[in-house]
Amino acid sequence: MIRGAACFRKLFQSSAVSSKVAAKCYTAQAAVQPAIYSSDEESADIDWDNLGFNLMQTDYMYMTKCSDDGVFRKGQLNRYGNINLSPSAGVLNYGQGLFEGTKAYRRDDGRVFLFRPEQNAIRMQIGAERMCMPSPTTDQFVNAVKQTALANKRWIPPSGKGSLYIRPLLIGTGPILGLSPAPEYTFLVYACPVGNYFKQGTAPLNLYVEEDVHRASRGGAGGVKSITNYAPVLKAMKNAKANGYSDVLYLDAVNKKYIEEVSSCNIFLVKGNVLSTPIAKGTILEGITRKSIMDIAHDLGYTVEERLIEADELISADEVFCTGTAVGVAPVGSITYKGQRIEYKISSDLSCKQFYSRLVGIQRGVIKDERDWIVEIE
Ligand SMILES: *Cc1c(COP(=O)(O)O)cnc(C)c1O
Repeated sequence: MIRGAACFRKLFQSSAVSSKVAAKCYTAQAAVQPAIYSSDEESADIDWDNLGFNLMQTDYMYMTKCSDDGVFRKGQLNRYGNINLSPSAGVLNYGQGLFEGTKAYRRDDGRVFLFRPEQNAIRMQIGAERMCMPSPTTDQFVNAVKQTALANKRWIPPSGKGSLYIRPLLIGTGPILGLSPAPEYTFLVYACPVGNYFKQGTAPLNLYVEEDVHRASRGGAGGVKSITNYAPVLKAMKNAKANGYSDVLYLDAVNKKYIEEVSSCNIFLVKGNVLSTPIAKGTILEGITRKSIMDIAHDLGYTVEERLIEADELISADEVFCTGTAVGVAPVGSITYKGQRIEYKISSDLSCKQFYSRLVGIQRGVIKDERDWIVEIE
């Protein structure tokens, strides 16, 4: 079993960052405990106008481990780099792991904000319970996200160019042979500047309704952000993309007729003054963007429904859109179901554009944040 200071050090050692800028600034051997956590003097040397959703190494990551009592120690920032893992780590053998995704935004005045990070903390705690893992407290989680954003401040895109995507991970790092919970857990947070999630930028999505591959089933782990939910959909996504679609819309595994969600985002239908989204009963990941858009739509006078939605209803919707931290709010231009392509009119007065501009307005501080969604990092 990995225990004690020696292993602690081993796991936390990170290799030197190889990005152009980092190499320039840190030619010395990576220190276990770097002295400088924030380096905002100089903006990172990247093309802010062409950010996609691609991995880019930033300067620091946050890490902490949990001891036998289920309590996470005070974490620390380390240089971004590889971590050491036992070949028999629980996460590698049995997929005991969760991820989260949240973003830090820079405003015109340079101040930096997070959007509802405590919601990610709570979701990780719920997921950890499902996956038999201990979890960091909400304070530990939010503090780790803040520290990671601050330490990588020079990687936060200028206002309007994108955001710093922050990826917290909770993984079973202790070695285990028989199927059971790992004896040790690591909570780590890294970050990466991002622009648009989809290759086509902000163009409307073309979705393919998948009838054979299912993302989640009742009693499974589809309702939590378990790492085990993602590799199994790659095949359906790959097929859809090879045929020119942006992503896949999954159906429920029992009746194969109710829509659930897209690979990494939630789905909404608009018809008249009614906004509908599939009800979450353990097979849908309840997005924080989903929840926020439902509140915003309600504020704007829409009737908001969470219910079973048959795929057959797609044809009568005025508008369909997807939501998620990574994708934002993305209008859907077409959905192909049982060989039939349903097309949606895209115009500047779509409801989803109204919802999104309100959400972005709150994030940028131009619309009053009445629900305390915004957290400043100082
Ligand atoms: C993360 C995720 C979402 C979106 O959740 P947000 O909290 O809005 O980012 C939706 N569906 C799946 C499957 C996801 O993994």
